[in-house]
Amino acid sequence: MAEMKATWLDDAALEATLERNAQEDAVKAREVIAKARLLGGLDLDDVATLIALRDPELVEEMFQTARDVKEEIYGNRLVLFAPLYISNLCSNECLYCAFRRSNTELDRKALDMDAIADETRLIVQQGHKRILLVAGESYPREGFDYVLRAIDAVYSVHEGTGEIRRLNVNVAPLTVEQFRNLKARDIGTYQLFQETYHRGTYAKVHLAGPKKDFDWRATAMDRAMEAGIDDVGIGPLFGLYDWRFEVLATLRHAQHLEEAFGVGCHTISVPRLEPACGSDMASNPPRPVSNADFMRLVAILRLAVPYTGIIMSTRESAEMRTQTLALGVSQISAGSRTNPGGYAENEREEAAQFQLGDHRSLSEVIADVGSMGYIPSFCTACYRMGRTGHDFMDLAKPGLIKQKCGPNALATFKEYLLDYGTPEARAVGESVIAADLGKLDEKTRRVAERLIARVDEGRRDVFV
Ligand code: SAM
Ligand code: SF4
Repeated sequence: MAEMKATWLDDAALEATLERNAQEDAVKAREVIAKARLLGGLDLDDVATLIALRDPELVEEMFQTARDVKEEIYGNRLVLFAPLYISNLCSNECLYCAFRRSNTELDRKALDMDAIADETRLIVQQGHKRILLVAGESYPREGFDYVLRAIDAVYSVHEGTGEIRRLNVNVAPLTVEQFRNLKARDIGTYQLFQETYHRGTYAKVHLAGPKKDFDWRATAMDRAMEAGIDDVGIGPLFGLYDWRFEVLATLRHAQHLEEAFGVGCHTISVPRLEPACGSDMASNPPRPVSNADFMRLVAILRLAVPYTGIIMSTRESAEMRTQTLALGVSQISAGSRTNPGGYAENEREEAAQFQLGDHRSLSEVIADVGSMGYIPSFCTACYRMGRTGHDFMDLAKPGLIKQKCGPNALATFKEYLLDYGTPEARAVGESVIAADLGKLDEKTRRVAERLIARVDEGRRDVFV
């Protein structure tokens, strides 16, 4: 039975770990960096040692190792997904969020199944294969079944040669029974952010509603795992409390899952507070995280849990995207419509309006990351081949997963270029694919060439 109290999270012990390692120690830091290079991950004291680094030379050594680890495990692949907000109804009072119940500046809406299918169609027409489904914590009359029906609506869409092949979910904590229903709907990752692992801060920023219960949220992943969902995504919302504590606590959470279920988390997200309508806190974060610290925390996470995907929002500036992708981010969202119905509205607006920076379309994001030397990947093979949880880690840890991800990324990128790419994108994409093939070892290259040839022949959704 899943525990209802997050006993694994001991604020005082985490603060003491930071305190114990607060003095910068070059010798120890270099030992930790050397340990990280072996790809076996780091313990909490190791992480606190890296958190304490100030000397620019040591910070650069840490960054370079993070870049090496990222390159070694993920190569130049970058997984892309689109968020799909289905409802902004919410019974909570999170001071940083536009959806909180007392915010009267917002039009409330829960998309019906037709509207959800319409939104999905627009996302598929861009070329996406992965959706992250998001909702506030209050559902229309039918209750949580609304989310289950929404999942069916997304998977029911087939548009030309495209469809959503992996749907991840970010909704409020559920009971074991509800998680079982979610699992039966064939979801990929269940994602939930603790926002802050610091209980005092948590109480100050969550004023009303079910979300006030820190432990119900902090134990959600235990219930998800008990229900058989073995790919879970965690993360703090940076800007609410000291990032150092949040990084350490996030790793403690991952450790706990590993100890209790034999598999840690599949992804860690690194959202930073963004301005939100009707929220002063969102524009004035209590503990803002500077760009320099943000880069450090991404590098530290990369070294501490090398096989865990790191997810970042595309809303970070171009400079931050360039830096953090190299340091460890492996997935980004492309197209950040965070209002229900946003994709359809944007279609209507586009006739008259220029797209804003954080509303970039998938093709714009692809051009951007492609120019940085990344291969956009739409691969969904692992979860569909049952390579989740333990099985994924068993493959990933000895590096075998690379032999699959490389070819799958190239084949799905090729599929994107043929079905959705402009002539210019195709020309650039083809040369990027050719260059990348040249970098693969012979066996992997042959597998990739075989998959790409099948896509050229008109086959779709091919993978190993
Ligand atoms: N209602 C569910 C919940 O709170 O877990 C899921 C949906 S909620 C919109 C998803 C996430 O949005 C939250 O976990 C929070 O981290 C993030 N969020 C809310 N306000 C934000 C803001 N101003 N800037 C960045 N992220 C924000
Ligand atoms: Fe509601 Fe989630 Fe926003 Fe809180 S973060 S107000 S629970 S949608």
